[in-house]
Amino acid sequence: MLDKKIVDLINLQINKEFYSSFFYMDMANYYTDQSLNGFANWFNIQTQEEYAHAMLFVQYLQLNGEKVVLEAIAKPMVEFKDHKHPLVAAYDHELMVTRSINDIYAVAFDQKDFKTMQFLDWFVKEQAEEEQNVDEMIKRYDLFGTDARGLYMLDQELGQRTYTPPTLTL
Ligand code: MG
Repeated sequence: MLDKKIVDLINLQINKEFYSSFFYMDMANYYTDQSLNGFANWFNIQTQEEYAHAMLFVQYLQLNGEKVVLEAIAKPMVEFKDHKHPLVAAYDHELMVTRSINDIYAVAFDQKDFKTMQFLDWFVKEQAEEEQNVDEMIKRYDLFGTDARGLYMLDQELGQRTYTPPTLTL
């Protein structure tokens, strides 16, 4: 059994992870429209990752005998103005997700809910990686992406990304 506050926050987090999945799908679709299929591939994989994150939170509640409450997923917000825009939006989004995970962690800490803290540790690490990855993409875009040939090479490279399921198992 988990404290109600933790259950409510995790249910909210499930919605945020599904929203993230939508949000990145929107970006993938934007890049597909732009014929940048490598960027689209990268974001489609991101979409899969976020779905997997949502499912981990679902499983965590269920393993603790708690009810999963699904809410409507918001419509992705952005009209993208150029090729860099989704990258910056993705970075800002990941910072928001990190804050959200940290907020759950803080409540778990206050309640000496070590089980939830241990579960969340994986996400804390994951968020650090997500921020790093997108930050690097922005830097590399600034270096190479503004030149047509560089953009082509970058797109080729991002096309190589393959999906790996989360290392966390419950
Ligand atoms: Mg996530």
